[in-house]
Amino acid sequence: MSVENQSTSCAIAGGGYAGLATAIELHRYAPHIRVTLFDKRKNHQKLTQWHKLARGKNIKDFEVPFQSLAQRFKFTFVQQDIDLDKLLQKPHETLLRKFDAVVVAQGSLSPHTMPGVVTLDMLRDDPNAIAKVRTIEKEHIAVVGAGPTGVQFAFELAARGNKVELIEAQDRVLPSFDASVGECAVKEAQKQNITLHLNTEFIRFEKPELILRKGNETARSTADYVLFVPGVRANPAFNCDLYGRITEISGERPECLFYAAGDNSYFSGRGLNAKSAQAAVRKGQAVARTLAADLSGKAAPEYVYQELGYFVSLGPKNAVGYLLSQKSAFSGRGALFMKEAVEKQYDLYLNGLPVYL
Ligand SMILES: Cc1cc2nc3c(=O)[nH]c(=O)nc-3n(C[C@H](O)[C@H](O)[C@H](O)COP(=O)(O)OP(=O)(O)OC[C@H]3O[C@@H](n4cnc5c(N)ncnc54)[C@H](O)[C@@H]3O)c2cc1C
Repeated sequence: MSVENQSTSCAIAGGGYAGLATAIELHRYAPHIRVTLFDKRKNHQKLTQWHKLARGKNIKDFEVPFQSLAQRFKFTFVQQDIDLDKLLQKPHETLLRKFDAVVVAQGSLSPHTMPGVVTLDMLRDDPNAIAKVRTIEKEHIAVVGAGPTGVQFAFELAARGNKVELIEAQDRVLPSFDASVGECAVKEAQKQNITLHLNTEFIRFEKPELILRKGNETARSTADYVLFVPGVRANPAFNCDLYGRITEISGERPECLFYAAGDNSYFSGRGLNAKSAQAAVRKGQAVARTLAADLSGKAAPEYVYQELGYFVSLGPKNAVGYLLSQKSAFSGRGALFMKEAVEKQYDLYLNGLPVYL
């Protein structure tokens, strides 16, 4: 039976790239579904620009109040820190009302670490940590983790006149990409006097002493400030089918339909599963279409999105990345233009333009 004309409702837990894309697509293609978006924060955070805090930029440049997005895309916003384990067992009790469908899109968190270091989660929420990274100058900084987040922060911090050491446990920079991307970044790092420590594990920071491990040897160095960004983890994380439906909901008959999107989800099939904003947006869109199809008894389209490219900023004046093939890495003005164009595209999306077709 088609329920398109009946009042159906959907809850979205988490309003990052994935959750917001779900809300925007439902507004566009299934406006009959009443959407409530829950987030523990007051503002949507454009994380792909977060490294610009170390350029001295104001956090307000990268945040959008959920209330203004709720007005634009006609959803209800509720600020609530959701107990995600309970949500999966008892969604109605957790969200204090009944929903036909729930999309879980809580993203990921920084890994646990020792005291004394600064994590990405602190740079998202702690005003003192944010104030410090916006103003830090002429200090000796260790950045742990040479993935996109570590590389982007390292170049910003070096451009402000700090002495930067970039520490990576694996044998190359940007290890999740083809080696050519990292090689481009290494050449630029040398020009910025960023010191690289590859095959080096961070053990602890006892200010000012930095304790590292290289093979079986303990190595010591010093630092005034340690930024610990060796990657992020999603907990819980979900296996989904080809369409974004969670496949492993335990317990008896679930109270509603469950979907996941973003960093916390792995979709089976050939679509992109990277922990990236572009995968999060596309999965959020896919889940919106699946959910609308499920609630109206229609067939859902498969998630097939393939990556078009990826760009990592190397300070205010440079970037590195590739289009279509990771083997085609390039840096310089063209890459910087592409990186900024990707950010503009997302801003247009949040303003209501259909830029991700
Ligand atoms: C510095 C940096 C640069 C990056 N650059 C790029 C890039 O150039 N390109 C790219 O594609 N990707 C980039 N990424 C990765 C990208 O930002 C993430 O993959 C993306 O944010 C994932 O989107 P998401 O919606 O899954 O999670 P998030 O964007 O983290 O959103 C999750 C939301 O859920 C909310 N939430 C979490 N837990 C709860 C709870 N219990 N209850 C209620 N709400 C909750 C959070 O407040 C948040 O709003 C970058 C990341 C960083 C940190």
